[in-house]
Amino acid sequence: MRILLVEDELTLAEQLKSTLSTAAYVVSHADNGRDAWFLGDVEAFDAVILDLGLPEMDGISVLKKWREAGHKMPVLILTARDNWYEKVTGIDAGADDYLTKPFHSEELLARLRALLRRSAGHASAMLACGRLTLDTRNTRLMLDGHPLTLTSHEYMVIAFLMHHQGEVISRTTLMEHIYEHDSERDSNTIDVFVARLRKKLPVDTIETVRGLGYRLTVQA
Ligand code: CA
Repeated sequence: MRILLVEDELTLAEQLKSTLSTAAYVVSHADNGRDAWFLGDVEAFDAVILDLGLPEMDGISVLKKWREAGHKMPVLILTARDNWYEKVTGIDAGADDYLTKPFHSEELLARLRALLRRSAGHASAMLACGRLTLDTRNTRLMLDGHPLTLTSHEYMVIAFLMHHQGEVISRTTLMEHIYEHDSERDSNTIDVFVARLRKKLPVDTIETVRGLGYRLTVQA
């Protein structure tokens, strides 16, 4: 899952990047509104964490422009304490949730998980697919209730497929959502991660759809 973090306070941005990376998210960071708008317009993100007070273009304007352009990714805004007006304006501009500064990183992660699973149409923090269960609270994948040992990239691939089960997901989409930079993206590595995952999962869990990509098969 790939997150765009928009925050101009660099100390806070560094803390959040580290918190998010530890929770197995890939993070791109923008420290001003103009870069944020551009990144959100041209790249694929599963969710955005958006500070509102930003240089160059304020967060509300960035959000409005994304929504006007038809971008539907979930957006969590960071608002100043005791500023109810900012929250109302933000939600009206298309924010999905808000968090008041200062906040605990655990609360940020919980709200982010909720946004990600809601946007994928899931209500619970535990996603199930056949014999597999993904606990998004602790980045753990279980087979018949037993935790599997996965590398962070293997986890990112299966977590993305679990959030989008039944859909055909292209290699390009997977690459975009598990790598931060274009330079790291090599479609062969996706095949390698899938091959490794298949050794750990029941046969035919991840189906290859020829010419299109992969699909997590919802088993009866
Ligand atoms: Ca700020």
